[in-house]
Amino acid sequence: MTSGPSAGKAGLCAAPRLRPQRGDMNYFCSMPSVYFQTFGCQMNTADSNSLLHALANRGWHEVSSPEAAALIIVNTCSVREHAEARARARIAEFAAKKRRSARYPDPQRLWVIGCMAERLGERLRESIPAIDAVIGAPELADPEAVLMRHLGGHEDGPAAPPEPEVSEFFPVMRGCNNFCAYCIVPFVRGPETSVKADRIVAALKARAAAGVREVTLLGQNVNSYGDNGLGFPGLLRRVAAIDGLSRIRFLTSHPKDCTEELISTIAENAGLCRHLHLPVQAGSDRILSLMNRKYTADRYRSLLSMIRRILPDADITTDLMVGFPSETEEEFAATLALAREARFTTAFMFAYSAREGTAAAKLEDDIPRDVKIERLNRLIALQTATTREIYESMVGQTKEIMVYGPLKKRGESFLRGQDRGCKRILIRGLEAPPGTLLTARIVRSSGMTLIAERK
Ligand code: SF4
Repeated sequence: MTSGPSAGKAGLCAAPRLRPQRGDMNYFCSMPSVYFQTFGCQMNTADSNSLLHALANRGWHEVSSPEAAALIIVNTCSVREHAEARARARIAEFAAKKRRSARYPDPQRLWVIGCMAERLGERLRESIPAIDAVIGAPELADPEAVLMRHLGGHEDGPAAPPEPEVSEFFPVMRGCNNFCAYCIVPFVRGPETSVKADRIVAALKARAAAGVREVTLLGQNVNSYGDNGLGFPGLLRRVAAIDGLSRIRFLTSHPKDCTEELISTIAENAGLCRHLHLPVQAGSDRILSLMNRKYTADRYRSLLSMIRRILPDADITTDLMVGFPSETEEEFAATLALAREARFTTAFMFAYSAREGTAAAKLEDDIPRDVKIERLNRLIALQTATTREIYESMVGQTKEIMVYGPLKKRGESFLRGQDRGCKRILIRGLEAPPGTLLTARIVRSSGMTLIAERK
């Protein structure tokens, strides 16, 4: 989980990535190898992991260097122009090296997958001919079919499943029907589809049996999940009953689908984490309506009151956008006021940039860049101060922490972990395997990180 206010990053919070930890290259030297470069949100991370699992079932293994890979996969993000520019630069770099590489008997392959692949399709291949395959985000829901189409039906070696991490992402629904005016997601990920609850439960039981202890259920709009009358609270209750899963998280919730039943379900199930990522975007009703967000600032305020009444210890995090077309200084001040009042634990904060094909792209992008940046900086300053205050207020409290793994920082050894909300914690002077739940006392806050010691 991201531990502090952040500008310019996708709104889903990051958890540790699943990565195979097999370092012995000799062991793998006869097996085909893949290198992943993943941009964007947790859904992309989950899609890369699913594709890695499918490749591993055919005998592929992941390598940490692109030079060593027979196949390079770049998973792309389209949410902002900057994200596409970064992915494009990396793809061009891989393409140039690929042409120069004389290292492989078979030519190195380069696949571009995800949201930018969906948005640009074959246009990508026209501009970078060294790309071997362009695979859009909706196709990634079925990784086996992707491999069948692009690698054929054969296996390349014995299955080599990657070691599970203690914390994994699991998409329970894909796509979005909301068409917020600024957002490209409905165009590149298609309409909402929910995975059958029985399939989710069976898959998560298997992951728990393999050693996964925490799962983050993903969806662009996860709380609009539905399977034959079973809504998201019902799904959460079923997942919370799975033996071995100590913690269940979910991302991202839309305020229009955030119900009292959902919050009460969290309160009644200890395994459900006390963290709601509830993007508000703006504090002005006129801007919210232009954004097509389907709620008012007061409706959002009443949701916050309901959540704090039922779950007083929950971390509430958000996304905020400044400089939407025609946003006045007063309307920006309404966003600042709402952020001040809401006391979000952390926030992802952005300056608006138009995305081709969206409704907002038809509006004049009339807020000068320097004004957007100045508003963004004021918002970041406010949120940073709030986060700092919230973190400092934790000192002296006792927290239940899930251990993710060891960490060395300035010569000192820590365990890195997370509380039941979204706060990252470093634990001093202890050893424990990943997945352990332990209780420790917060002794210090360094702004965006908490330091704890065993009670
Ligand atoms: S809810 Fe709005 S912002 Fe979120 S993915 Fe859907 S369209 Fe985009």
